[in-house]
Amino acid sequence: MNDGNLECASENNAKILIADGHCDTIHLFCKPKGEYSFHVENNTGHIDLPRLRRGGVNLQCFAVCCVEPRYTPCGALRRTLVLFEHFAREMGNNSNNVAVVKNLDELERTLNGGKLAALLTVEGGEALEGELEVLHCLYHLGMRGMGLTWNHRNELADGVGVGSAAGGLTAFGREVVSEMNKLGIMVDASHLSPRSFYDVLEHSSSPVVVTHANAAGVCNHRRNLDDSQLRALRDQGGTIGICFYPPFTTSAPGVNLDHLLDHFCYIAERFGTGMLALGSDFDGIQETIPGLEDVSHLPALTAGLIKRGFNMEEIRMILGGNFLQVLGKILKEQGT
Ligand SMILES: [Zn+2]
Repeated sequence: MNDGNLECASENNAKILIADGHCDTIHLFCKPKGEYSFHVENNTGHIDLPRLRRGGVNLQCFAVCCVEPRYTPCGALRRTLVLFEHFAREMGNNSNNVAVVKNLDELERTLNGGKLAALLTVEGGEALEGELEVLHCLYHLGMRGMGLTWNHRNELADGVGVGSAAGGLTAFGREVVSEMNKLGIMVDASHLSPRSFYDVLEHSSSPVVVTHANAAGVCNHRRNLDDSQLRALRDQGGTIGICFYPPFTTSAPGVNLDHLLDHFCYIAERFGTGMLALGSDFDGIQETIPGLEDVSHLPALTAGLIKRGFNMEEIRMILGGNFLQVLGKILKEQGT
């Protein structure tokens, strides 16, 4: 694996590469023409190409979500395929400025060429409808990351919403994780029950990513990771994408950017800066933090990190370096 190359490229250019591990923007791609277009600036939503540019984003992970009750027990795969098609069309319409990346070679070329790199992911193993072969099909269609569950129980594992009696990874879930490791698909442990979370860390031979969650030590929400989980994730080599969703940020009224910065500081002080990444959850959240209303406001986050005393090298790693390093250990060098 040549994860070193990505590292060198950014160092040689002395450039900060910004990577966001999770957004739900794809559902906007289904809107009728005139209501939303990825390629122009919109009054709705949090992400489009002009605003990604202003935010300085170089890699955006785009998640397909298929877990609404109307798609289960069957229909999740069809929904996933429909959204994959919308994603492919929308990205294909502007190949001068954006490229879908499926391996390290494409990622490196895209980042060096100054285009936006787009990585396709799925949120919810419901998409597999219980068939391991479907994982391969989705891989062939470009999927390079998958969150095993949303909050519910599915064929792979229990989600965090199942409650205190929640179990862990199923036999099928273990098979899926092994196959994801082999194929070079990111294993996303967001939304998992604690037992599923630890099962995944133990079972995955590649670093595990939690693309969007915060520290429970700062905001005690069921979707955030407690200190034991953070330590285990760090020791496994994984990353946590700090999420901009107000309920994960503070339980106090009047959420602001400082509350979000508290999560970066808390994790950095206890577990180091090496596991910190970004996972905005833009277009999947109904409320935003004032000053971080959409992706174009990301420079405010950088300014906040400087104000909190992080040095430029730490900030470079937090904004994208850590996530890119982990991706370098997961994705294959070449191939489709
Ligand atoms: Zn989510």
